[in-house]
Amino acid sequence: MKLKRSLIAVGLISLSGFVGAADEHAGHGAHWGYKGDMGPDRWTSLKPEFSACAGKNQSPIDVSGTIDAKLKPVRFSYKAGGHEVVNNGHTIQVNIEDGSSIVIDGIQFNLKQFHFHSPSENHISGKSYPLEAHLVHADKDGNLAVVAVVFNEGKANATVAAAWSRMSKAEGTSELATNVSAAGLLPKSHDYYRYNGSLTTPPCTEGVRWIVMKKPMTVSKDQLNAFQTTVGFANNRPIQPANARPILE
Ligand SMILES: [Zn+2]
Repeated sequence: MKLKRSLIAVGLISLSGFVGAADEHAGHGAHWGYKGDMGPDRWTSLKPEFSACAGKNQSPIDVSGTIDAKLKPVRFSYKAGGHEVVNNGHTIQVNIEDGSSIVIDGIQFNLKQFHFHSPSENHISGKSYPLEAHLVHADKDGNLAVVAVVFNEGKANATVAAAWSRMSKAEGTSELATNVSAAGLLPKSHDYYRYNGSLTTPPCTEGVRWIVMKKPMTVSKDQLNAFQTTVGFANNRPIQPANARPILE
């Protein structure tokens, strides 16, 4: 059961589902990247399975020109279920045991993992941030919902410190000394923007509910440096056109 869960989590790492899980085990991130021949503008040509990367409803975006939709609160129910940290060659990810979830549109989405991008992937009103966390959830049918939190440089974040305490420059997985809760990544105010988008990594699958928290959190300069040094490159996909999509708040 443990193994099955972690396979699912690994699949979500590359945010690529079950085919991705196999890829991750075999090749460790060598199939695409953030620069040059493997970079975001080449993703569609790397593999037929990545054709969605050229879609009209891609992420990340610049969250601006929003429509006031009086969005209902997202119901967060997070526990200390983050038990292992993975360097998958693209990001640093914490895998979450069953038991943490959110409710959106009356549907329960279970938290599978969270991971980070530096600089941020989504922009807010034209602004890029030094760091963004993606909290990746799936409902029982495999539909995904990602809660995004942007970070400024400032006070250190204790959850980030715990999550990154065992991150390594080498690809692989380490157990965390103490389980972490994604609740420590959320701003006090749960106000959010919402749009429909995609995975920000190949295969760029669409139909992902994006919940972008309005208020930024902070990490310290040392935390940011540690992450950037460990990953070794900027792991943000450039912003994509919003096209016909409304962005709600
Ligand atoms: Zn991400």
